[in-house]
Order: sequence, then structure tokens, then C-alpha cells
Amino acid sequence: MELPYIEPYKIKMVEAIQTSTINQRKKWIAAAKYNLFKLSSDQVRIDLLTDSGTGAMSDKQWAEIMLGDESYAGSSSYEKLEQTVKQITGFPFFIPTHQGRAAENVLFSALVKKGDIVPGNSHFDTTKGHIEFRKATAIDCTIDEAFDTTVQHPFKGNLDISKLEKIVQKHSAEKIPFVLITITCNSAGGQPVSMQNIKQVHQFCKYYKIPLYFDSARFAENAYFIKTREAGYAKKTIKEIVKEMFSFSDGMTMSAKKDGLVNMGGFIALKNPEVYTSCITYNIIYEGFVTYGGMSGRDMGALAVGLQEATEFSYLQSRIQQVHYLGERLITLGVPVQQPFGGHAIYLDANKFVPNIPKEEYRAQALAIELYISSGIRSVEIGTILADRDPITRNNRYPKLELVRLALPRRTYTLSHLEYIAIAIKNVYDTRNEAKKGYNIHWEAPIMRHFTVELDKL
Ligand SMILES: *Cc1c(COP(=O)(O)O)cnc(C)c1O
Repeated sequence: MELPYIEPYKIKMVEAIQTSTINQRKKWIAAAKYNLFKLSSDQVRIDLLTDSGTGAMSDKQWAEIMLGDESYAGSSSYEKLEQTVKQITGFPFFIPTHQGRAAENVLFSALVKKGDIVPGNSHFDTTKGHIEFRKATAIDCTIDEAFDTTVQHPFKGNLDISKLEKIVQKHSAEKIPFVLITITCNSAGGQPVSMQNIKQVHQFCKYYKIPLYFDSARFAENAYFIKTREAGYAKKTIKEIVKEMFSFSDGMTMSAKKDGLVNMGGFIALKNPEVYTSCITYNIIYEGFVTYGGMSGRDMGALAVGLQEATEFSYLQSRIQQVHYLGERLITLGVPVQQPFGGHAIYLDANKFVPNIPKEEYRAQALAIELYISSGIRSVEIGTILADRDPITRNNRYPKLELVRLALPRRTYTLSHLEYIAIAIKNVYDTRNEAKKGYNIHWEAPIMRHFTVELDKL
């Protein structure tokens, strides 16, 4: 018999999972005003709220924590990270920051001004926030296939060159400080961008003399998809593919809480010495001196090791196969999920799951709450509450898709946890016709309401 697949790691330290009853969870979620962000972690059995900073570090990363050099300037931990970033990305300049949005803040302070346009593939919300905060505009140029969940396409994060072309024709290249490619595209469900598309965007940018930057939080997962889906890359190593991807860009921002395999951290890496000099000033104002930028020495050491581990094929294979195992299991059980699966999460299609709950009553949120009450699994709504109100009319914006995201932390849960998740969802699916009522908003913040919103059960 062929030996079955096993995870390429074993467990050295364990963290207890808290158990609770349905009645306890009913009380807790009511006290949390039906907002899953307001639960404390010990009220959660399996936490799929996000894959950001929630993964497990390896023994080698923990060893680096003990070796951390906390010197203010020129620490050996900084040097380890600098060497690693240069080796893995190929960029000559590197600046640490405390997380991804801080890298955006520093880079965009140097590059984005009022009236600018930043085209990209479904910009991440903090990225869009940092662009709009500077009175500039982010324009989504993702291919149309990305918005149709029934279409199978291997690289749904790709950019549409004709959409980029239209922006240049309408606004002129001078208005565009850079094009931004997000790899993988988080907002489109962790969908990858192909090497061919990266090259096409690079050609486009070169022609119009527009710089090209990458929002790289899941760059290693993107490289895995290129290796396994794109012709000509099967024999290349992840590290070779990563180098090639970055060779087409002028620089990157990184949230190390994703493919850095650490709980906190980020950085900028760059080709252009003038942009680097400009970024250094902003980094010192916002983050810290150039050799730590908001990170402890020990955390920079752990990140240096994390970046090496995240760009190993065996790690990525286990990571992405875990996500896809959950997706396949749900399909087998008849549960409606978004396809094709992305790299870091599975999305339940709430429009198909609970169509009897009116969309005005936040059906995806209702589904996420029901899943929590029945099984203790915390997921997150990617639907009307997240889409927020139109800034001018103040009416709710109803997105085409009402999703519940199940994001898997890296190296954290086992196959039996995934089985628990799949069965828990199947049980909610079996009783879906009983769900007819959703929630009303009791109180909400003027922007980014999803974090703090308070709901009333109808
Ligand atoms: C998480 C993320 C960010 C922001 O990074 P933080 O570390 O959370 O500040 C930016 N872009 C993408 C694509 C992300 O996934």
C-alpha cells in the first residue's frame, strides 16, 4: 500500500483547547452583542477568525528568540534578518516595520500624494485605507473571472491589463505613483497571481515608466500555486520562483504575520536607493531606528528563520493541502463553498447556505454566529457588515457575495480538528431551513464598523 501523507512536523509544546457548552456560548455571544470580535479567546474552541499572526513558530524560531540581540543599533538579529530578506527577495534595500500596515504607511508616505491613483488587484483594506487617507484613489483592476464563484480559473488574483490601460488613458501615467499587485490576493479569497501576469504587468509598467510594487503578505503561498499550476515551474524550487516573482517589481511591503511565520512583524524591501532614503526618514518618525523599526531583536531573528521555513515546499504543501482538505470535505458533505479554494481560507457561501434569512438581516453574520453557538468555532463575516455603508448616502452596501471565512492558522490545527470543523458546519447546514431571522444593528462606528458593531437578535 502507498503510505499516506503526513504533516512535515510533530508537536513539541501544546496549548489546551477550552471546552464549553451550547448554553454557555449562547450567553457569551449575547454578552458580546453578537460580535465575534468581542469574544474572549477562552470562549472559543477552534479559532478561525484570521491566519494573521496566529500560527505556531518552530523550535528553530524559538531558539532564535533566545539569541535575540536587543542592541538599539546594528544588532546581530537585524543583520540576520537583513541577510535573509536580501537572499530570499533579491532586493538590495530592507527596512523592518512592526507589521504590514506600518510598512504601507512608511512606503506610501514616500510615494503617494493627494489626487494620485493606485491601480491594483482588490487592494487589502488597510492598504486601501492608507491610499484613501492620503486623498488618493485605489482602483481595482482584477480580472472579471475573480468575481464569479462558478468560474474555475487557476489565477483569479490576476490583473486585467486592459483595465490598467484604460486608467492610464483616462488619468495619464504621471498620476500613478505605482501599480500594486497583492500576492496572493487576500480580498479576492487568497487567489494567486500567475508569473505570466506578473510579467505582463511589469511590461506594462516599464512601457509607461510606472513603478511596480507588491503587497507580499502571502508571497510564498503564491509561489506554491505558480509551482503547482503554471506551465514551466513544476521543477523550480519555491525559493527560485520567489526570486523570479520579485525580480519584476521595484519593491514590496510585507506583513510578516502571514508568510513570515511569526506573530508580529513586517518590512519593506526596495530596489531604488532614493525611495529607500526617503522611507528611512518616515521609518524613524513612525516605527523606530532603521535597524529595528518597531521589532524586538528576538522577533527579527525568529522572522529570519520563519522566512526560510515558509519558502520550503514541504511546509507550503502541508499548509495549502490542509486548507484544501477542509474545502474538499465540505464539498463532499454538500456544503456550498467558494471555488476554487485559495491559499489561506475556505469561504462558506451564505447566499446559498441560508437564503431564507433576508440579506437586510446580515445573513453571513447570522451563519457565523450559529456556527459559533453550535460548535465553538469562531469564523468571520465577509459580507454586508464588512462592506459598510456608502460614504455619501449612508445606505448599507450589499456585496454580491455574502461569505463566512474560515481562515486556518499556520501549523496550528490537526486533521482531527479539520474533521470537527467540517462536521460542525454540516450540522448547521442540515438545520438551515429553520434559520429565518437574522440581526439588526444596535450600534455601529462611522468607519470599519465590523470590529465593534453591536447587534440585536431578531
Ligand atoms: C494582513 C495584510 C496586510 C496588513 O498587514 P498587518 O500586518 O495586519 O498590518 C496588508 N496586505 C495584505 C494582503 C494582508 O493580508
